[in-house]
Amino acid sequence: MTEGYDSIIEYMRGIGARLEFDRRYPGRKMVEQIAISDKIIRFKAIIPMDDGSIELFQCYRVQHSDTLGPYKGGTRLHPTVNMEEVKALATLMTLKTALAGVPFGGAKGGICVDPRKISVNELERLIRKYTHRLLPEIGPNVDIPAPDVNSGEREMAWMYDEYRKSRESARGVVTGKPLELGGSHGRREATGMGVSIVLLHTLRDLNIHKPTVAIEGFGAVGSHAALDLHGKGLKVVAVSDSKGCVFNPAGLDIVELDAYRASGGTVTGFAGGESIGSIHDADADVFIPCALGLSVNESNVGRVRAKLIVEGANAPVTMEAEKTLTARGVAVVPDILANAGGVIVSYYEWAQNREGLYWDLETVRSRLYNTITEAYTSVTRHAREHGVTMREAAYRLAMDRIARAMAARGAQ
Ligand code: GLU
Repeated sequence: MTEGYDSIIEYMRGIGARLEFDRRYPGRKMVEQIAISDKIIRFKAIIPMDDGSIELFQCYRVQHSDTLGPYKGGTRLHPTVNMEEVKALATLMTLKTALAGVPFGGAKGGICVDPRKISVNELERLIRKYTHRLLPEIGPNVDIPAPDVNSGEREMAWMYDEYRKSRESARGVVTGKPLELGGSHGRREATGMGVSIVLLHTLRDLNIHKPTVAIEGFGAVGSHAALDLHGKGLKVVAVSDSKGCVFNPAGLDIVELDAYRASGGTVTGFAGGESIGSIHDADADVFIPCALGLSVNESNVGRVRAKLIVEGANAPVTMEAEKTLTARGVAVVPDILANAGGVIVSYYEWAQNREGLYWDLETVRSRLYNTITEAYTSVTRHAREHGVTMREAAYRLAMDRIARAMAARGAQ
């Protein structure tokens, strides 16, 4: 489970008060309009398993807001997925797209399943059933799913294929597709690259030189952030996954670690480092949580030794833990800025699908750099000018943008 839904809404209420929404938009209930999800979809998928038995899976899609464009957000496959979590993640998507300035709203999907515990055929049936049930709800101009924890190009290909069976071929119905099906160059590594770009800007602004880095999670986000940072000469001293953590104070060889993980499925047992109990105990200047929510919480925040935390995952630092970190002078770069690279390149994929004109990797990379840098610059400028945290600044900019759009649309 990630950050409780209520604490994000509570946080947004505080921001709404500080942005003086009641005075600026009298009688509009602006915070409520921005914060409360538009539509919540929950259903069960009944799947025949390979052995002839039947299994039930809880499925969710939360369409949080379409004020700035079609609903947009990933599809999480995890045994802890639940409604509150999907609602929170959908809310974060709305804020993320608004902050990045991409023309989407926010949504999130999830299936309560451990994909490692079912066969590939069973997973394909589940994803197709999930997509089929959502046919009336999704579409390139309505709601555009994408990858999230444990879903990637393969699952997006199934979703696209299931959609086109009964709808006009519309490649923009999902993003994060394989290149062969209209995916974009650079989408696979986009979130990790964005984390790396934002981290390098932050290090420069905070005058942190030659930092050591610890990364929690070596999946779609963590591995690409690690590879990019390693390639740029930063010392990544600790990396973890769901099975364990490897540490080397002299710096891990991330290229070798990536090859090791590709062959064995885990970073544990890597000969180029020693095994340690928890990534939170790794001594590093920068901590990049790229796994699930709630990684840094009240129970372990005292152990965090980093000077800087960059949220590669969604909601990895709880609001309570962040208060403690801020009081200790630890800077936290919020998820809606730090991991926006994924949805930014999803936007490029969607735009390329609409145009039927495809861009090369260099074009994608340089546009990603410019877009996320612009978001970073506006957040740090606002934070500096108003003496607030980067999270407060990011939420303010996102909520202000949405409020202006709502007001411009009239009374509705
Ligand atoms: N799941 C990713 C996120 O949380 C990407 C969403 C997308 O590309 O639509 O930002």
